[in-house]
Amino acid sequence: MTVDIKSMTREELITEVTALGEKPFRAKQLYQWMHQKLSRDYDEMTNLPKTFRERLHEKYTYTSHTLVERRVSAVDGTEKYLFGLADGNVIESVLMRYHFGNSVCISSQVGCRMGCRFCASTIGGLTRNLLPSEMLDQVYAIQRLTGERVSHLVVMGTGEPLDNYDHLLHFIRLLSDENGLNISQRNITVSTCGLVEKIRDLAQEHLQITLALSLHASSQEKRKALMPVAYQYELSDVLDACRYYFEQTGRRITFEYSLVGGVNDSQEDAERLVKLLGGMNCHINLIPVNPIRERDYMQPDRQVVIAFKNKLEKCGKAVSIRREMGRDISGACGQLRKGYLEQEREYHHV
Ligand code: SAH
Repeated sequence: MTVDIKSMTREELITEVTALGEKPFRAKQLYQWMHQKLSRDYDEMTNLPKTFRERLHEKYTYTSHTLVERRVSAVDGTEKYLFGLADGNVIESVLMRYHFGNSVCISSQVGCRMGCRFCASTIGGLTRNLLPSEMLDQVYAIQRLTGERVSHLVVMGTGEPLDNYDHLLHFIRLLSDENGLNISQRNITVSTCGLVEKIRDLAQEHLQITLALSLHASSQEKRKALMPVAYQYELSDVLDACRYYFEQTGRRITFEYSLVGGVNDSQEDAERLVKLLGGMNCHINLIPVNPIRERDYMQPDRQVVIAFKNKLEKCGKAVSIRREMGRDISGACGQLRKGYLEQEREYHHV
């Protein structure tokens, strides 16, 4: 495979381009075409000499997603996208419109190997990591298609971002680069199921992003029942890593807690959760579980969700309940992609 040009930093690009015998300003123009004007291919870069463009074409891969499907929610304007990659894989991304701006949720891998029991994205296992450019392209394609600026980003789509650590870091640096889309790192959230060493590494990268930790349980035993990754890491070690992240970056951790009816939604669970998080400066995001066909997990009744929230608040915790968006368009966690792959399979069989 040739080198992936859109994953290069501006400095790397300058080195490459000057090695081809071009002036450094050509690299800057090229970078601008890719990361600000969001070009789909070299042909659009009309102020670059044709011979130079041909040379680029021969030497470097230029990634660009194809649009496989776009669904717009009639309820809240949320949009779901299925994008096709050069190797035929498909990934999904979501655009959510909030009062503070447009937020995109991207996938970091094709599939996932973490095995969380309630999640549709992991059922088929991991196919491969996404390149930095393939993460960027999700944002770029959505901004191009809507004509609206994307101001916020969450890495909460398919995949475990810290399982694709180097590409993720590269992606964040490119996305927040002032010569690119210049999305503030403070508007970027990375969600992880809790890979302890990687959380500690991330703490030392001097980024201003928010770390969201998928907790989903108030004890090690309960966590194991929902998240196989808990067999690998003790809950106390995960929380120590979170404290370390806060110490190093000053960024408050968000804890995600998917409420599953009859599994982790009792008042005792709430009490244990308060104790577990002790004096941590954090925010808790409650997500009523989104039922998937393959598992029989259910959302708790609304009163149970409210009671859980009240308990945490009474104990001084900052809590929010995640507003459900785009439910009418398979809004949650890998369900659109999964549905698509199943349809494809049926189609190929006939
Ligand atoms: N692998 C990362 C990021 C992807 S999932 C992580 O584990 O954090 C983003 C969030 O959605 C996680 O908190 C995940 O546990 C949660 N999630 C996945 N499937 C869900 C479902 N069916 N209902 C509610 N939350 C879900």
